[in-house]
Amino acid sequence: KELTDINALCDEYLRLAYHGLRAKEKDFNATLKTDFDESIGAINIIPQDIGRVLLNLYNNAFYAVNEKKKQQPENYEPTVSVNTKKINNKIEISVIDNGSGIAQKIADKIFQPFFTTKPTGQGTGLGLSLSYDIVKAHGGEIKVTTKEAEETEFIIVLPA
Ligand code: ADP
Ligand code: MG
Repeated sequence: KELTDINALCDEYLRLAYHGLRAKEKDFNATLKTDFDESIGAINIIPQDIGRVLLNLYNNAFYAVNEKKKQQPENYEPTVSVNTKKINNKIEISVIDNGSGIAQKIADKIFQPFFTTKPTGQGTGLGLSLSYDIVKAHGGEIKVTTKEAEETEFIIVLPA
């Protein structure tokens, strides 16, 4: 583990994920919003591992808004927001997208290895399962809330 500026890590990987998708799909555009709690400072994590979790969540978020854009191009602004905050001795990282949400009937399966709703070749179903393990290994937790057809929010909680 190393002392890591978590806000910088959140920001760096957000841009990496966004530009990664834009390199493949030139027409793809999304509004990125960030609200970082500057009081957090550095926290003790394995930056490569938490970076991987962030990349998984961001890739899922961009995929979700991109799919929605293809289905309803009019008056739809794909948006991915990332917020951090410090609450007592914990750090919360929230990743919100205004994609299509997660259907109630699959919500309890998304953290299982190999569970995916993506077409063959577009998803392995391992991202969230791996993310869950990494966050657990850091003594944290990962939670999801979703409004079907509207938005999805993943929250990573880590010890400060
Ligand atoms: P993969 O991305 O390879 O499908 P993940 O473990 O990352 O695997 O995600 C599992 C499933 O959870 C996805 O296939 C999708 O159905 C659902 N999911 C995850 N994130 C989102 C999101 N932001 N919006 C909608 N569905 C999501
Ligand atoms: Mg994924």
